[in-house]
Amino acid sequence: MKINENFKALGVNYLFHDISQKVKAYAESHPNAEIIRMGIGDVTLPLAPAVVRAMENAAAEMGRAETFRGYGEYHGYDFLRDAIIGYYAKKGVTLTRDEVFVSDGAKSDAANILDIFAGGSTAVIPNPVYPVYVDTCVMAGNTIVYAHGNEENNFLPMPDESVNADIIYLCSPNNPTGAAYSKAQLEKWVDYAVEKDAVILYDSAYEAFVTDDLPTSIFQIKNAEKCAIEIGSLSKTAGFTGVRCAYTIVPSALIREDIALSKMWSRRQATKFNAVPYIIQRGAEAAFSDEGYAESRANVEYYLENAKIIADALKKMGIWYTGGRNSPYIWFKCPHGLSSWGFFETLLEKANVVGTPGAGFGAEGEGFFRLSAFGDRKKIVLGMERIFDIF
Ligand code: PLP
Repeated sequence: MKINENFKALGVNYLFHDISQKVKAYAESHPNAEIIRMGIGDVTLPLAPAVVRAMENAAAEMGRAETFRGYGEYHGYDFLRDAIIGYYAKKGVTLTRDEVFVSDGAKSDAANILDIFAGGSTAVIPNPVYPVYVDTCVMAGNTIVYAHGNEENNFLPMPDESVNADIIYLCSPNNPTGAAYSKAQLEKWVDYAVEKDAVILYDSAYEAFVTDDLPTSIFQIKNAEKCAIEIGSLSKTAGFTGVRCAYTIVPSALIREDIALSKMWSRRQATKFNAVPYIIQRGAEAAFSDEGYAESRANVEYYLENAKIIADALKKMGIWYTGGRNSPYIWFKCPHGLSSWGFFETLLEKANVVGTPGAGFGAEGEGFFRLSAFGDRKKIVLGMERIFDIF
């Protein structure tokens, strides 16, 4: 027996473990401290009433012989695929059912999609970014080439012609930087992918936060259907982080070596995945309905207002940042040249505020810090007042 040696090359990611240990230790030694958590990467507001009702009705259906359902359609029920098609139509993107694959999460899809590509591929990955892309590429034995985000490019790295990419992970709006690509920038990535015969894996998990005139789907870019797969999620759009429902769009026009990648992904899912539960899919359908969408949208607006409060406070302090609009994340340069962890300690001890050290998202994150708009308004206002007072 031989294990997958690639696992030995995985870095250990103790980021959230280390944060919780440090906060726990501080809270124990300072029992009166009112700690404000602004590092949360999870939604905090409840599901939309229309979504809850739809899931209750679906649960009742499952309890009646005449409406009971067993194994689902592993690519998603037609009612949900049609709802997703309708959502994309509003973005000006035309899809067909066989291009839409419902799943239990953007995280799993972003990782599992590598099954359809050769191991040992060259993967271009922005840095800093959501750590799943890196770890899953390491597991697959891919060669990783980082696209470096920094202050100069506003953490929106562009393609490097000298790199012959096979796979390109893009995340816009980005976690952790909150930075979102413009149409012109995405056009450059698409042109690059077409030229290199590469495939873009576009994570649009935060697209619902885009309010400026920026793309919300890679398929709004000309020729993207020939070189891109999009991974979307209801997690942040409709508060589904604990419910689990997402979708991956593989256009029929995406063909490599005479094979449609949609057929390969279909085959992969049919073999390794047994569908999202009926009850959840009904909830997701409701999230795309006019009523459910408006209710979920109100939550997104609440987070966006929180993000603005954080961004405005940083602006007042003269601190350089990205995000804060089109995203629930605000990514900023640690004041006084502090390291990410140095700033974390200062913030915890002097302001009793918890955030996320940027160094945890890749080497380019050192010296930067992420605050999150997922949380209670009053606490966020208080947290920013405290930060303002100490810097
Ligand atoms: N993609 C990005 C960029 C994320 O930040 C996250 C969660 O934090 C996910 C995907 C996970 O999405 P899901 O809950 O659908 O698995």
